[in-house]
Amino acid sequence: MSSDSDQDLGITERKQYNTGEWYAEVVQKAGLANYGPEGMSGFIVTRPRGYALWEYIQNELDRKFKSTGVQNAYFPMMIPESYLEREKDIVEGFDPEVAWVTHGGHEELEERLAVRPTSESIIAPYMAQWVRSHRDLPLRVNQWCSVVRWEATETKPFFRTKEFLWQEGHTAHETHDEAWDETMTRLEQYAELYEDLLAIPVLKGQKPDHDKFPGAHKTTTVEALMPDGKSVQAGTSHHLGTSFAEAFDITFSDEDEETQPAHTTSWGLSWRALGALIMTHSDDQGLVLPPTVAPEQVVIVPIWQEDTQEEVLDYAESVRDDLAEAGIRVELDDRDERNPGFKFNEWELKGVPVRLEIGPHEVDDEEITVVHRPDGAEAVEDREGIAETVQDHFDEVYAKLYAAAEENLEENVREADSREEILGTLGPNNGYVKVPWCGDEDCEEPIKEPLSAEIVMCPFDDEEDIDEDDTCGICGEPATQTAYFAKNY
Ligand SMILES: [Zn+2]
Repeated sequence: MSSDSDQDLGITERKQYNTGEWYAEVVQKAGLANYGPEGMSGFIVTRPRGYALWEYIQNELDRKFKSTGVQNAYFPMMIPESYLEREKDIVEGFDPEVAWVTHGGHEELEERLAVRPTSESIIAPYMAQWVRSHRDLPLRVNQWCSVVRWEATETKPFFRTKEFLWQEGHTAHETHDEAWDETMTRLEQYAELYEDLLAIPVLKGQKPDHDKFPGAHKTTTVEALMPDGKSVQAGTSHHLGTSFAEAFDITFSDEDEETQPAHTTSWGLSWRALGALIMTHSDDQGLVLPPTVAPEQVVIVPIWQEDTQEEVLDYAESVRDDLAEAGIRVELDDRDERNPGFKFNEWELKGVPVRLEIGPHEVDDEEITVVHRPDGAEAVEDREGIAETVQDHFDEVYAKLYAAAEENLEENVREADSREEILGTLGPNNGYVKVPWCGDEDCEEPIKEPLSAEIVMCPFDDEEDIDEDDTCGICGEPATQTAYFAKNY
């Protein structure tokens, strides 16, 4: 079988030189996704190993949401054109590329239906029905679904696809401040997801006003730096003010029986998180995963000769049983027809974080050899208490992955305060450049045009103090905030 040969197993592209091609190869060879059928460019098929990763993300976020007052709901995947138009009228700049359904069976529809590009326009009218009094607030619903945006760009699994999986949360509140607290709660949960589950440090901040979600009061974002120096918008949380409430009549009677518009928020995280996970940690041998989200956390590879096969396998099985009993996701690779070297390569490609090697020496000495996927570090451990020892190794592997990503981030935030300096600093693959900024969109252009880099984020005011005599790095007017320029996905 040619698909099983040693040659096909290996990654042929190099991460450092051809990041895009390397990424596509890892996604396919590690069994995460395939490209969609011919004639459906932009769609991908998510294979079980890829979907399992999404489920870890989903489960963790779902738990966080539910523990902070959110309930899940589900709305139709099709939205009448008039609903979208209503949103478009109010929300200037809202004009996604939409896929349209024009026929139902053999009949042409009286009104075209859009396959949802996002669900504000169908969720908001129902929120308007459900909210009557201040006692109905806060109202928090979340939906797990896919959305479709018919953008004709080059497909990149989990980063750029026409259909993608995500969650969208929609909430309504009595006051501006409560809506702000909600916005920040969700942003914080996104940051925790990246830092505590995916071993990726993120920057938190707000989008510049000219780049916020159309109609929003403020758009906040978590940004993650990829190894190719580009920033990924890794999750966004919007304070929508009262503009959506006014457009869709989401009003409530307050304690004095006065009618007031609600203050709403929306927040979303997509399977881009998965793309960021794969891109950040993986290497030229294939996928690298933190133990928190690895479908198999440990693989046991027994190493035997004919005369030692039985004792080695018995020992390996007992180790497997101990680990499984402790709730560890473990696989014993006892295939007869493959040699250990082949198995090492295959499990490395698949990203299993910890490998246990068991041969006759380990059996005799009641020991186990433990190998870390990310760097090949080896340790010999006692058989006794192996489940606990393996948990410690998980923590070590997680810490290594996080530290490497953090180092990449810290080394790639640079400061500049003139146009020439920004252009010189923001060469190819150079991460973030921090610049004092006046807040005027025009000052983004001289950087955007030659480098296709833009302001991806401004830190929150309390985190980044602008001095009175700081001036905008581009126009020289007084600076009001700090802008992070970067190329982005
Ligand atoms: Zn300026």
